Amino acid sequence: MTDATLAVHGLTHDFGERRALDGVSFEVRPGRLTGFVGANGAGKTTTMRAIVGVLRPDAGTVTFGGSPMGLEVRRRIGYMPEERGLYPKMKVAEQLVYLARVLGVAKADAESRASGLLDALGLAERRDDLLHTLSLGNQQRVQVAAALIHEPDLLILDEPFSGLDPIAMDAMAARLRDRAEAGVPVLFSSHQLDLVERLCDDLVLIHDGRVVAAGDARALREERAGRRYRVAVAGEDAWRPALAGMTAVEAGPHGTLVDLDDGADPQELLVAAQAAGPVTHFSRTVPSLAELFAEVVR
Ligand code: ATP
Repeated sequence: MTDATLAVHGLTHDFGERRALDGVSFEVRPGRLTGFVGANGAGKTTTMRAIVGVLRPDAGTVTFGGSPMGLEVRRRIGYMPEERGLYPKMKVAEQLVYLARVLGVAKADAESRASGLLDALGLAERRDDLLHTLSLGNQQRVQVAAALIHEPDLLILDEPFSGLDPIAMDAMAARLRDRAEAGVPVLFSSHQLDLVERLCDDLVLIHDGRVVAAGDARALREERAGRRYRVAVAGEDAWRPALAGMTAVEAGPHGTLVDLDDGADPQELLVAAQAAGPVTHFSRTVPSLAELFAEVVR
């Protein structure tokens, strides 16, 4: 496949009177870990269900590599739904092999992949346990293994990190990174913004059924870097500039955060800081994902 981009265009869907999706469009590019972020009820799950074909949207299209999502393409998706749907009374490894077999993987391959995934996700010792005897976090790890077992060409994961301990989170992040590096487009939703910020190449921010920002994660934050500066003066923990058009929003041991009005010159800020003492830090700050999110959903 030459262009394995997932393209979502104009998805619109109503549940009764309520418009859950209102013209949702974005792309998930091959090899990019893409974080899907939005408040409760923003439309993430509905979008993902429309992508994988569990829900038929009122309007809009979904294509993968330029083709509509037919049955053949759908078989190549790894989907981890919000409502986790595995067999509680089946043994962990047996279940993974079974799922792979249903999706057309040969028995020997299915067995070796199941073992490899259980190893990678720290579940090797639980392979012969019944799923329902595992803790919730461990059941979640099995769900991830289930989404990956047929080596999908596209990964759609609804909150794969929720409920995981830090070790499992790292294991999960490594698996997703590994898949992305293999050229797979990966879309996952999460409320853990620090994790999304650390992990993702691209972002899709959704608010009230509309995409409010999408694209390269760093570029989206840089675009909004605006006119906030951090300046630190040695020995002056609470230094504040007394200059027109500059407002110190926070002063502490890591320096002073200063917002500059449109006409204000950052060089003047630097000169004033130097007059107060040796300047140990001077930078324009880039908003965190949490700050970006707060700004775009306002
Ligand atoms: P969360 O972060 O809470 O999982 P979400 O972003 O995944 O939220 P969705 O589950 O897609 O949000 O819900 C979008 C909107 O559609 C919400 O207002 C929700 O109440 C509504 N909705 C979702 N599924 C249904 C349904 N089956 N019937 C009626 N309304 C629904």
